[in-house]
Amino acid sequence: MLVDYKFCPRCAATLETVAIPKSSPFSRRKCAACGWIFWNNSRPTAGGLILDDQNRLMLIRRGIEPSLGLWDLPGGFLEPGEHPLDGCIRELLEETGAVVEPVGFHGVFMDTYGPNPDDHTHNTFYMCKVVGGEIAAADDAEELAWFAYADIPWTELAFKNVTEAVELWGGKPL
Ligand SMILES: [Zn+2]
Repeated sequence: MLVDYKFCPRCAATLETVAIPKSSPFSRRKCAACGWIFWNNSRPTAGGLILDDQNRLMLIRRGIEPSLGLWDLPGGFLEPGEHPLDGCIRELLEETGAVVEPVGFHGVFMDTYGPNPDDHTHNTFYMCKVVGGEIAAADDAEELAWFAYADIPWTELAFKNVTEAVELWGGKPL
């Protein structure tokens, strides 16, 4: 999807629409003056499915928009150059207080973030177990709770990618 930005964020010249490479079906906005290109890649996030010893899944209630008040898997946007595994560990500590050890790759789920259908996200999840920390909702999380698979609040999940990641888990033990 072409986002119709008008001016170059680097030099403020007018952007043009070009196919890069020429054979690409995707048009990009490019600055004719300085060569800057808006690639419009999906934004990467990383998060975790944390299970407790009763095989319950940790969900957090979002304290920020979008999807304020809905249940989310802990996670967040990656920093520049950050490996998703490191981002997962960092975000889970920030939001839940848990020091986690990722024990397996879970999957990648594409989605959009908030009301803008052009804000694409690339969401990577790991299965995680808690190895330390003091668990309590923090940062962007307002509340934290553990759900057996049979009790997942499907109609109150924050994002399509969360629903898909929880469905793929399916209640299996670690
Ligand atoms: Zn420019």
